[in-house]
Formats: sequence, C-alpha cells, structure tokens
Amino acid sequence: MENIAPALLDWFNQNRRSLPFRDDPTPYHVWVSEIMLQQTRVSAALPYYERFIEELPDIPALAACPPERLDKLWEGLGYYRRVHSLQKAAQVVCEQYGGALPADYDALLALPGVGPYTAGAIASIGFGLAAPAVDGNVLRVFARLYNDPSPVTDAAVKRTFTQRVMAHQPPDNPGDYNQALMELGALVCLPGGEPLCGRCPLADLCQGRKAGTALELPKKAEPKPRRVVPVTVLLIRQEGTGAWLLQKRPETGLLAGLWQPPALEGVCLEGPDAIRQAAAGLGLVPGSDTPRPRPAAKHIFSHVEWHLSGWVMTLPAQPAPEGCVWASREDLEGRYALPGAFKAYRKVLLG
Ligand code: SF4
Repeated sequence: MENIAPALLDWFNQNRRSLPFRDDPTPYHVWVSEIMLQQTRVSAALPYYERFIEELPDIPALAACPPERLDKLWEGLGYYRRVHSLQKAAQVVCEQYGGALPADYDALLALPGVGPYTAGAIASIGFGLAAPAVDGNVLRVFARLYNDPSPVTDAAVKRTFTQRVMAHQPPDNPGDYNQALMELGALVCLPGGEPLCGRCPLADLCQGRKAGTALELPKKAEPKPRRVVPVTVLLIRQEGTGAWLLQKRPETGLLAGLWQPPALEGVCLEGPDAIRQAAAGLGLVPGSDTPRPRPAAKHIFSHVEWHLSGWVMTLPAQPAPEGCVWASREDLEGRYALPGAFKAYRKVLLG
C-alpha cells in the first residue's frame, strides 16, 4: 500500500483534465469551484464558474455583490444556500483577514459554509498545506482499495477513512495527491457501475478488485425517506402590463431570500374558489378571471419532495402586496433568479 501515492501521482500527471480552477488554483478559485461542484457536475458547472470569476474576480468583489445579482449568477445551479454562505464568508474574510483567505485549515473551517472537505481542498490545493479533502469520490476509492464494507455515511467510519487517506499523503505535494484521488474517482473508479479497473494505476494494490467486491462498495446506510410536501403555486398576472407577481421567501430556511411566484407550502388547494381566496389572503383585489390549473409538477430537494400544483389567473392592475413585486419579462430574465423548484412554470411566466 505504500506505493499508492507515487502510482497515483504518476497517473495524475499524465491524465489530469485541464480545468480553469486547476490551471490557476488560487485559494479563491479553488473555494468557488469546490462550492459549485458540491452538487453539480464539472461540465455543467464550468460555464457558471467562468462567468462568476469574470464578474467577481476576487473576494472583495464577491463580498460587495448585490444579493439579487449574486442569485442571478447562480441561477440554474440550485442549492442557493451555497452562494449565500459563500458571500457571508467573503464578508468575514474582508473584515477579519483583509480580503484574502487565511492559510490555515482551522480558520478556513470556521468560515460560513466551509466544511471539512472544502477547507481541506483550499488548504491543500490553494496553499499546499497538508490537509485531507475527502469527498464521495475519495471514500469510494478507499472503500474499494481496502475492501472495507463499513458504511461510509457513518461519521466514525469517515474519520477512519480520512486517517488512511492522510497516511498516504506526501507532505511535499498534498494538493496534487488530493486532486488525483478525486480525479481517479471521477474518471476511473466510477460510481454506480463497473469501475474501469483495467485503466487504474492502483489495480495491483486494490483489495476490492482482487476480492471481486469493488462493485458492491462503498456501503452506505439506508437514506431516510423524503418528506412529501404539497405546494400550491399562484401564477398571478397583472392585467394590462402582463407582469407576474413574485414574492420574496423568508431569509432563513429552504430557498432562503429568493423570489418566486406566491406559493402555499403544505397545502394542495383545489378549485378556482379556493385559489381566489388564497389570492385575497395575500391582500390582492379580486377580478373576474377564473383561475385555471396547470399540469402538476414535482421537485426533489435532498430531504423534501415538493408536489406542486400551479394555477394561473389575471387580476386587475393594483399595487403589489407587502413582500411582493410585479416582475416584467425583462425582470424575470435579467434580474430575479427563479428557483429550479418552479422550473415547470417558467414557460408560463416567460411565455
Ligand atoms: S482497481 Fe478498480 S476498484 Fe480498485 S481503485 Fe482502481 S478502479 Fe477502483
């Protein structure tokens, strides 16, 4: 097993993908890319990354970015809490560290939205410090390498795996070692299918391959079933201007601070009268238009599943209720970031 690091680094030197954050791995670039890649594939994240860095080239620019613009830059990536925490952390870095990330694992870990994996990636790749960066790819590679059936979702098991990862980390090249492990997991030791052992630099060392158990690893604890929440979506159009009503979500919780069509969570309203009443409950003056249903839709968050039913109605021109705005087509396209949960109704709003 002592040959893991040399074999891995040789392979990485020959097979590493050229990626903008890898080719210019400043701590800020590593940070932004790792936050984006938490829930998004590399190919999908790349155009977002390029646009984000072009518009917000450094931490002070990120800290000062207007929140709506920040959401717009993130629109399509989902899990907006990531970018909100990114900005909060950037503001902390400006206040406490003069706008440059600290070269210290524990200080990085103390920043909002920065967990052990991200802190380790920034410390090792951005600063060249000895630190672990153990994500799902790395856990999978090590479960197979050691033929270890312990559930990697367990915190104690993860700690043991992290110790193993660190035992092989070369002190003079922690960043490449961590990236090589992630890259091996992404390109060769694949999830959800046969690993490409014939192309693996660790094949001769791999206990899982020898035992024929690689495909069954890693083991994970059974996930908790998702909570199903009905959501009634009010797609309310203003007579004359054609603008749509948007409502700002609370500053904490799911989709915090984002704009969306008014929605009643935990409620599946049925029939035009119930929809009219819901609109009146928002403080809107009723009109003569009969609300019409749109096809049902579903959106899956990590622990919750929304079952959405949308209703379209037109109301007479009137001021937007408190916490709401009338958004024109230009506003919807260029200003407000509509959460992916409402994707099914996007065409209605932009139609
Ligand atoms: S030999 Fe196969 S199972 Fe083992 S680490 Fe390499 S790709 Fe994964």
